[in-house]
Amino acid sequence: MNEEVFVNKVLRGVGVSSGITTGRVYLLERGRVPITKRSIKEEHVDKEILRFKHAIKSAIEELDSIKEAITDDEIKKHAFIIDAHMLILQDDYFLNDVVDAIRKDRINTEWALDIVVSKFLASFEKMEDHYLRERGQDVKYIHERLVRILVKGKTTDIHGRSVKGKAIIVAHDLSPADTIQLNLNQISGFATDVGGRTSHTSIVARALEIPAVVGIGNITSLVKNNDSIIIDGDEGVVIINPTKEVQKDYIAKQLHLKSQKREFLRIAKLKSETKDGFRLRVGANIELLEEMDIVERYGAQGIGLYRTEYIYLSRKTLPTEMDHYHIYRKLAENRALEYITIRTLDIGGDKFVSDIEVPKEMNPAMGLRAIRLCIKELQLFKSQLMGILRASAYGPLRILIPMISGIEEVRKTKAVIKECMEELNHKRVNFNKDIKIGIMIEVPSACMISDQLAQEVDFFSVGTNDLIQYTLAIDRVNEYVSYLYEPLHPAVLMMIKLAVEAAHSNKIDIALCGEMAGEPLYVPILLGLELDELSMNPYSIPRAKKVIRGLEHSYCKELLREVLRTNSAKEGEYILRKEMARLFPEDFIRCYEE
Ligand code: PEP
Ligand code: MG
Repeated sequence: MNEEVFVNKVLRGVGVSSGITTGRVYLLERGRVPITKRSIKEEHVDKEILRFKHAIKSAIEELDSIKEAITDDEIKKHAFIIDAHMLILQDDYFLNDVVDAIRKDRINTEWALDIVVSKFLASFEKMEDHYLRERGQDVKYIHERLVRILVKGKTTDIHGRSVKGKAIIVAHDLSPADTIQLNLNQISGFATDVGGRTSHTSIVARALEIPAVVGIGNITSLVKNNDSIIIDGDEGVVIINPTKEVQKDYIAKQLHLKSQKREFLRIAKLKSETKDGFRLRVGANIELLEEMDIVERYGAQGIGLYRTEYIYLSRKTLPTEMDHYHIYRKLAENRALEYITIRTLDIGGDKFVSDIEVPKEMNPAMGLRAIRLCIKELQLFKSQLMGILRASAYGPLRILIPMISGIEEVRKTKAVIKECMEELNHKRVNFNKDIKIGIMIEVPSACMISDQLAQEVDFFSVGTNDLIQYTLAIDRVNEYVSYLYEPLHPAVLMMIKLAVEAAHSNKIDIALCGEMAGEPLYVPILLGLELDELSMNPYSIPRAKKVIRGLEHSYCKELLREVLRTNSAKEGEYILRKEMARLFPEDFIRCYEE
């Protein structure tokens, strides 16, 4: 425990849930339990394996009772994460690996677990997708739980540790079981040593709109219970024991953010229409059903992108047709949204953890992923498509296919969808026969042949995250080349323009759902490009609407021409920042000065 008393100690991490909060620390100390690595005698091997099996049984019982004790509906929504942990505890690969290590190496359970878990974590860490990488955290939680059971022989949870008054939880990391046991109504912020945008704490914090900063490194060793603390979830900053002046500044900033939020929630309800009457849809990108409340509150007209990867990652075996159906039906039954775009599975290469065997690839971003994998693993693809089709009887679902690079992929996909429809007809299951089928435009070849592709499908959605990566040949997760990741690169803008023209001359809609859509600075350019929809992180919607409503469409078209004339992303950005600072001085002055 740290005895030093800090004043105004500033710590930096990753701001994962917006907002500012000030309050008192509630420290959840769950440091690592030291383990002893022991060799064991041959005759003790069976006893040791039994010890491991008892620990597994206790861990499952603990998780079961945590789940049963949940009464709060809001918290119940997150209990599926506990199920995912239970599945890991019953996973044959995991169990057999530990038993094998105990038997073959004649080592105690703690040691065997250490070896097996390290192997699992190493393979998670190699994954390119940061979301998948962080799922390794689940294996860590399970490991910690088992070690605590083995070492201490008693329960491991923070059960019953009620939080007094509103508190800011500081922890090394919060396992889903921890988060679920806390009374979330009494928590005004989170700060953790580890974690990233897609760790469970972050997902829950965002869904509940609680400010959070994660990945701070060492906050648990620097604070004590009851320390005063400020969390700035927008800047990713935490301040321990702030002075009165600093507190005053942050309270003023917090009040400003609160009134800004009220203003955003007001704007959220308004139409996305320019001053001269050009309308486009504003949709939301989501990954979890839990995000639906936020989607509505922040003013999305529909879901422009529902990433379905989480469905595959949150269970041990592949989701069945009916698993898919139940999830998509919940989405479809939402009456507030005009359309819900379900993107079919977009993983593969070394980003895939499940029953499907995929070869190790040298270059996974360009490997057997997304539609390529789905076409190869037809059963996998069909169970998702059948689930979507079944659910389409209940609301305005659309199908979106990722990573299309050529026309055969589209034709093959449509043939598979047709087969699914025939099967459902045969079974007399209701579905929407006219369901809209769209493709992601995120591979340069798809842009180049967008005119032909547009004749095959009902809509396009531009995925700029990948389109920029493939057009400019820069790995989107490689920090060394991130300076080259330029959404305003003339090649990128020309690609989008080409796809928009192809879509419109074939009378189909075109959306843009990459991160670029949620960045207000780019909104005038995207308006100038005449996209029909922008789909973004729900929290970005009001800001985007504000910008849309403050602009003339004719001006945006001219601005786009001017930016394209510069032939340079840097110069284009300079013009854009300058113009936006002139038009929206309150919102853009800072970025122009940078
Ligand atoms: C994209 O590539 O822009 C996109 C929206 O999809 P993802 O980020 O899931 O690849
Ligand atoms: Mg993509």
